[in-house]
Amino acid sequence: MKAIDGLCFSRSPLLSVYADMSVCCEEYENSDKSMLELVFAPCSPVAGSDKNWIAAPDEEIIEATLTELERLFPTEIGPGAPGGGANVEKSTVVRVPRSVYAAIPGRNKYRPSQTSPISNFVMAGDFASQKYLGSMEGAVLSGKLAAEVICDKAANRETKRIKPIHESVTAGEEPKAPIGVKGTYPIAFGGGQEGSGANVYHP
Ligand SMILES: Cc1cc2nc3c(=O)[nH]c(=O)nc-3n(C[C@H](O)[C@H](O)[C@H](O)COP(=O)(O)OP(=O)(O)OC[C@H]3O[C@@H](n4cnc5c(N)ncnc54)[C@H](O)[C@@H]3O)c2cc1C
Repeated sequence: MKAIDGLCFSRSPLLSVYADMSVCCEEYENSDKSMLELVFAPCSPVAGSDKNWIAAPDEEIIEATLTELERLFPTEIGPGAPGGGANVEKSTVVRVPRSVYAAIPGRNKYRPSQTSPISNFVMAGDFASQKYLGSMEGAVLSGKLAAEVICDKAANRETKRIKPIHESVTAGEEPKAPIGVKGTYPIAFGGGQEGSGANVYHP
């Protein structure tokens, strides 16, 4: 990974984003060793993985990471690399189960339009109707669409129409208990946590 000075987005099914910090970050600069930071995802079947990685022991996660790194960087890591390749000296697994949502198809129909039934209330944000995922791009586009609505109102032009609320929202269905990690430890509140720990409950 020494050749890559920056954050990489990959099509790897396990390591979505990674960087060699010893190359791209002055504080970790080292020409002999690599300090890799990797995002391992998806981590649960509900998000698309075939295994509940959040509940898996650190050793299994590290082993799967190295197997994937061998596949991605065969000339630097693994038995095929010159001199046997790189060895792991130290590793840390930080679990952040609520860091991002699963981008599954068919959700846009639940998003509200920027225009609302309240004349001086316009919605901007990644949650509002726009063509991208919940992302920086989505938030920016939604802001632009909201600005358009405000300009149209100010100029007494017709605004974009209000999107009907999806029937499942108005049907008053029984609320579903949220799935996720429960407890009083950091990951239950969306924080990061090292180790899966004896008292950690992973549904
Ligand atoms: C861990 C993580 C990683 C991400 N990585 C990426 C990425 O790599 N690329 C990408 O494009 N997107 C990424 N995203 C998504 C991206 O950050 C969001 O889609 C985007 O920031 C949403 O912008 P927004 O303005 O709609 O909402 P937000 O940025 O969430 O802003 C909403 C603001 O409203 C405030 N607020 C909430 N309630 C109230 C209230 N009652 N009164 C006053 N203020 C309130 C909140 O504090 C917040 O500041 C990531 C998100 C997370 C969580």
